[in-house]
Amino acid sequence: MAKLGVRPYPECSESLSGYLLRLSEVNGLINIQELQSAIGVEKSKINGWGHWSGAQINYLSGPLSDVLGRDANRHISFTLGNSMKRWQFSDRRMFKELVVDFMRVCPGCLASNKRLDWRWCIGTVARCPIHRTPLLDTCPDCGSQLRWDSNIFRGCTTCSKQWSEIDSLPASGTKFSKLEADLIPDENGDIRATSDALDKLCVAILKFARPYDCIYQVLQRIPYSLGHSDLILHVLKEIDNSSRAPRAPEPDFEINARVTDDPHLITREMVEYVRPSRKKWIRNGDLSALRYQADHLGLSEYLGVSKPDLLKVTEADLIQPINSTSIVRDQLFDVREAVKVLSVMPAPADTSGYRLLTVKDKALRSHLCKYGEVLCAVLQGEIPGYFDKGCDMSTVRVREEELSLWLARKFERECDGPVALPAASAAIGCSIEKTKKLVKSGHLALARWQRYVDAIDGPSLYALVSERHRSHD
Ligand SMILES: [Zn+2]
Ligand SMILES: [Zn+2]
Repeated sequence: MAKLGVRPYPECSESLSGYLLRLSEVNGLINIQELQSAIGVEKSKINGWGHWSGAQINYLSGPLSDVLGRDANRHISFTLGNSMKRWQFSDRRMFKELVVDFMRVCPGCLASNKRLDWRWCIGTVARCPIHRTPLLDTCPDCGSQLRWDSNIFRGCTTCSKQWSEIDSLPASGTKFSKLEADLIPDENGDIRATSDALDKLCVAILKFARPYDCIYQVLQRIPYSLGHSDLILHVLKEIDNSSRAPRAPEPDFEINARVTDDPHLITREMVEYVRPSRKKWIRNGDLSALRYQADHLGLSEYLGVSKPDLLKVTEADLIQPINSTSIVRDQLFDVREAVKVLSVMPAPADTSGYRLLTVKDKALRSHLCKYGEVLCAVLQGEIPGYFDKGCDMSTVRVREEELSLWLARKFERECDGPVALPAASAAIGCSIEKTKKLVKSGHLALARWQRYVDAIDGPSLYALVSERHRSHD
């Protein structure tokens, strides 16, 4: 392959993608894709200019060495040296990678030096450390998103407005706060901000971008949204204002359930920060519906019940997911649908004979019953009952008489088979030690050998408890 006409060396702090784009520009090519085909790298092998994987580098290095007439690996490791630091990657962070894929520039820097600084690709950097102006991802003149095109060195990639001609550039701002300064990588690519501070910052960014959501899910990288630097500056200001740890607006679940269509709120929510798979499940393109989406854990927190208790309700199809999967981990719910299910059970005119039941009720344990099972029975009309508040399942009011009968039948059914030792002890209302003594003394029988736990023979438990009830009566 023929060598390129102009073969510059990478410069200090230049990103790999930035170097390739400059190489394209000086050789009259419009972008990196065109450079790739000109030097013989398959287009499909490299896409995305933020993060470079080992495989992508392998595809690039051979052809690039050929057209440069020297070992390109030196250039690649030189440009990637800073931008592949460990702090940029973490699996437990809300954004696994801090490197962004979209173009960000400091027009002031570009006006004096045609070079793309690798730090502009770090999503937690908001401003140019030299000019203190917010990094641009969108043209201030025509409003188009800046692209990875070689005319970026002169001006806007859409309207070609020169950087030096744009007069509406953001003014240099105030001094950097300690956190903002700590987030700017130094010459070696290191930052002073701790890993913990980065984790908290990422949570704050996500919550700031989606203030009304029921759930927050990990994203691979920080997504593009119009004016990304402004978002980061807002979050940094918010953190700075609170002297304590980073604090973001907590989603208010009570308000959530009541909020309907406030267009002002919707414009402040950034749809880019929602996993693409969730967008499939909204109807009529109504993006505000995203904030009501909850996974199993989110819905259980919203309704005030434990995950296993909610599972009883969803497994019985009494609250249905909005997506069609039966894998619990992947199920998505609309909290408004759940609230609807509860609100169709209004309080009766005469509430005498009803009593409050919660997960802690002793009657549940003494009848080998889970709270979620009573919830199902109420929702299915087996026990007359209702929910005081439309979006709260942590308490339910049930009619005593039917509840007692239902619990008695439930206990009888549970005693058909073996009963785990702790559950049996709870049903009797004594300690596990005491239950073991009851077995020794012949008042209870052990179930046939169970694999994991000691278990009591159900019928013997039923006989013991019934006997006790009779003696009480
Ligand atoms: Zn600058
Ligand atoms: Zn423009």
